[in-house]
Amino acid sequence: MSRLGILGGGQLARMMALAAAPLGVPVVVLDPSPGACAGQVAPLLAGGFDEQAALARFAARVDVATFDFENVPATSGDWLRRHIVVHPGPDALATAQDRLAEKTLFRELDIPVPAFADIGSREALAAAVADIGIPSILKTRRLGYDGKGQFRLRPEMGGAAVDAAWDALGPQAGRTGLILEGFVPFDFELSVIAVRGRDGAFRSWAPTRNWHVDGVLSASLAPAGVDPEIEAEAVRYARRIAEALDYVGVFALELFCRDGRLLANEIAPRVHNSGHWTVEGAETSQFENHVRAVMGLPLGSTATRGHACMLNWLGAMPDPGPVLSQPGGHWHDYGKSPREGRKVGHATLRADSPAELAAALEAVGAALDRRDQVAPVLGELKS
Ligand code: AMP
Repeated sequence: MSRLGILGGGQLARMMALAAAPLGVPVVVLDPSPGACAGQVAPLLAGGFDEQAALARFAARVDVATFDFENVPATSGDWLRRHIVVHPGPDALATAQDRLAEKTLFRELDIPVPAFADIGSREALAAAVADIGIPSILKTRRLGYDGKGQFRLRPEMGGAAVDAAWDALGPQAGRTGLILEGFVPFDFELSVIAVRGRDGAFRSWAPTRNWHVDGVLSASLAPAGVDPEIEAEAVRYARRIAEALDYVGVFALELFCRDGRLLANEIAPRVHNSGHWTVEGAETSQFENHVRAVMGLPLGSTATRGHACMLNWLGAMPDPGPVLSQPGGHWHDYGKSPREGRKVGHATLRADSPAELAAALEAVGAALDRRDQVAPVLGELKS
């Protein structure tokens, strides 16, 4: 069996390695940190993504490479491609690394997007703010994640908004580029997790409804329980993107929905936090199908099994007892040391009906004192 290498050794690599094991696919992980959590379940090479010697050691041990982290330098990806198979491909990675490139692609594919403008200077920011208006969000084009590298321009900031935004992110403009986006007062956020095989086969899981706190995913619900026509449209967009990029592997498309209309926010060219529920809530998980896709194996069914809610644990792991004592309760501890704001694990609750899922969620929220985290999901399940 061919061997799989993963660039990046975080929880995504860890869950991919766990899914690869029963398929008989040996995994090696490359990460700058020797303590990266995927190293607890797969051999880990410690080395930088831009270190030639580390890449050479990695390439010598694997046949196919993939990513748990999309910000691997393009030059490293190009070097690896000359020696081994790498999925997803360079276009997908380059596009997903740059918010301007991805929004431009969405527009070319007739996928609606929020208003946006490329920002190269304070003057360009002032002009774009005059055009797009406030509220809006200034974001780094590259290297931002989980709400980092973002500044919200709010109406109450008045005339000081442009200066405040430029003071916050202007110094990074040369390194990461900047983009201004109109703020979307969305009714809800939706993501589509989809997979495309080497042979072009396309499958998607049930679109997922997501709740963020301070730009970081807090809870996901699948099926999302939204209008089937909106879900079908979201899947059509995901398919269009996958085909345009000749994508191989799993990716996520994140969308806002406002007044029944979808607007695309971004794509993540990898397995995604909002697809963690698929481990227990779908016939084949996103991790398994990603491994199958990049290794050239047939894709598994993405059919949903009942109703699932994923809760992210940030900072430190709570007591597992209340989740484990639920009939459909599943625990995922990433084996990371606690640190404020860090994603350290998640729980998935699975049930056969929305009412049973709501009951389990209510019990867990109360027992762990996480009522605020479960409240929006409960609101949705009970509506
Ligand atoms: P991102 O890093 O672009 O995924 O942003 C993280 C989160 O911030 C999103 O999931 C939204 O909750 C929020 N956000 C980002 N961009 C916008 C926008 N243009 N309008 C409203 N909310 C946004």
